[in-house]
This record gives sequence, structure tokens and C-alpha cells, in this order.
Amino acid sequence: MQTRDISEVKQIWIDESVKDGIVARNVIERAAPGVAISFTDRPQEILNDFRKAGRIEDKHTLLVYKFPGKFLSSCPGSDGMVCCNYFVINFGYGCLYDCHYCFLQNYLNNPLITLFGNSDDLFAELGRRMQNQKFHFRVGTGETTDSLVLEPLSGMAELLVKHFAEIPNATLELKTKSSNVDTLLNLDHRGRTVVSWSINPPHIAEEIEVGTTTIDQRLEAARKVAKAGYRLAFHLDPVIHFEGWESAYHALIDRVFATVSPDSVAWISLGSFRYTPGLKTVMQSRFPEDWLTRGEMIQGPDGKYRYFKTIREEMYRSIREKIQSVDKRLFLYLCMETRRMWEDVFHFVPESAKNLDIGFEERRVYLDSLRPSGAGASR
Ligand code: SF4
Repeated sequence: MQTRDISEVKQIWIDESVKDGIVARNVIERAAPGVAISFTDRPQEILNDFRKAGRIEDKHTLLVYKFPGKFLSSCPGSDGMVCCNYFVINFGYGCLYDCHYCFLQNYLNNPLITLFGNSDDLFAELGRRMQNQKFHFRVGTGETTDSLVLEPLSGMAELLVKHFAEIPNATLELKTKSSNVDTLLNLDHRGRTVVSWSINPPHIAEEIEVGTTTIDQRLEAARKVAKAGYRLAFHLDPVIHFEGWESAYHALIDRVFATVSPDSVAWISLGSFRYTPGLKTVMQSRFPEDWLTRGEMIQGPDGKYRYFKTIREEMYRSIREKIQSVDKRLFLYLCMETRRMWEDVFHFVPESAKNLDIGFEERRVYLDSLRPSGAGASR
């Protein structure tokens, strides 16, 4: 499988109103020779034209424009599922990669890739929302795009890492399937950024996470950022059920901890493959050979289809035991799962999101205690 990178981008549109901002300047400076760069004072018309053309994806066109909405929001969670009190920053929409299960295929209402060029508004909003709060925010950027896939072009993650280094009551999470970490390695991040990878057994990643880096490349990137003092996280999400899943996931965990130390890992999440009815339709039309949605699944209170409870429980339990056999102190949580599943897998149900926060906080304090003095504790 060919890894996709920013050379996929052949056409760039820049909104005149943000052309002097750092994001647009980075994009213009870093675009490869031969990429067509155009300016517009009507970015909405560009979006509308792409919408009208009716394509689901256009991985070759990037629009940098002024985002008029709020940048920071609570993770929407899912009805009837335990929530982990996570916040998300959206700095753009869309992705160069093409994972079969990606919910963006059925979520975005335009096919092109976008970046929000008004980063000053983003940082001002973060200041207003986080300053003088006693709460410790965990903030991720990988909800509506991969956090690092466009990093060599935009430099957005670099800006965020530097900004969060100055916020004592927040942890930034950059979540990726890329290996684009070079811009991060020499930053003074002060332990306030976690770089995380979504991982699956190599042959699954190869088959259904189209265009992404290999698992070995992701782990090598994780090793590099850990060496640069960042904390890591891993998301075994979506966990996929297939013949031989158990040995494949166990081998994956062995591979992770043969590459990085458990003491560099802030958290690990587990979440089973799930889809909405709308996503199933898109997946089956875009990937006719895909087998993910062909098996029998059950609809949950949030309307999403998942594997039967017994299958999910068996997978979570086996993977949890394997991870905890490496180090019992590793902090794990379930993403978008029911209270009952928490009870069955962990023999514990977080009474509230705050309750789950305690686990994140304890792990953060423990990892802080391992940082050499003077390295900049995260509080
Ligand atoms: S890396 Fe994430 S955002 Fe990109 S296609 Fe895959 S699931 Fe979607």
C-alpha cells in the first residue's frame, strides 16, 4: 500500500481574509513547486461548487479559509455510553487518508480538505475558555482530521504544541496515523502534549487504513517523540473482529512495548468497530469488497451498530489482560461503551466523567514524577 503524503495536494485555494496568517503563509511557503495556488474572496462559493459536484471525497484540493464558528467543543460522546470528558479543537476538516471505517465520509458536507486560517481566533478562544479554570482540560485535535497528516504543509501542530506549553491546566493530544513528527522534535513542549497513534494489526492497517503509514513507521515515530520527552497514547480503536484477532492484537501489543517504554504511555483506549446506518451505505458503495459491515451486528442506544456484546467483551478483556501483563499501572479506558461493558471488563463503572478524570489525573501525576527535574512539569 502506498503511503499518502502532502504531494497528493495539487490545488490550493486561500481565502484572502486569512492569507497573511501563519497557517496560510506556511502552506504557501511549503507547497511543492507545481501546486496551483489561487486566492479567493468567496471561499463559500468554492465550498458550494464542490458540494454541488456531488463527489464524496476530493483528496487533491485544499482550502484555507476563515472558520466562523467555535473551535473548542466537548466531545459529542454517544447516547447511553460512558463519556470521558474530552474536548476537541477542530482546525480543519477532511484527511488525505481513506480508512474504510472513517466516519467523516458520512459526516462532512463537502469533499475537499480544509484548514482554518484564523489561528489567532482559535488561540484567543482557548485563552478565554481555559484561563482561571481549576479543571484540567484534555483537548484533542484528531476528530475531524488526522492531527499530523498535513503537518509538513500547515505547521499547525507545531503552533498548538507551543501554545499548550504555556497553558498549565491543559493537555493537548495530537492523534495520528502518520509519522509526521519531525516538526515536533525540538519544541519546548513542557510535557503538556501527548502524541497518540491509532493502531491495528499490520495486515488490517494495510488493508483498510488506506494511505496511512505502516504500523512499524507509526511505532518508530512514537519512539522518536518519546525520546523528545513527549508522552504517548495509543488507541486500539476500532478493534476489529476477524479470524485470529486475539493472537494478532497480542502480537501488536508486544510490538508496541518492544518499541516504547510503558512509562512513556499516558493512556490507551479500546473501542470496537462501530458504524451508523448512513456510514454503512457509504462504505459499501465506496469499498464494495469491504467485509467490515457484512457480519451480524447489533444496534445500540446511540443508533450505532456494534459487534454482539459477548464478542466485544471477549476482545476487550483479552486485550486488557495482555496490556496489563506488560505493566499493571498502564491506564486504559473504553471509548463509547456502555456502563455494563465497563462493569464486565474492568469490574468498575465510572460514576461520571469526573470520576474517569481521576484515572487520567493519577496517571499524569505519576508520569510527571518520572520526568527529570527541570524538564518542565505539566502543572
Ligand atoms: S486517519 Fe482518521 S480522519 Fe483520516 S481517514 Fe483515517 S479515520 Fe478518517
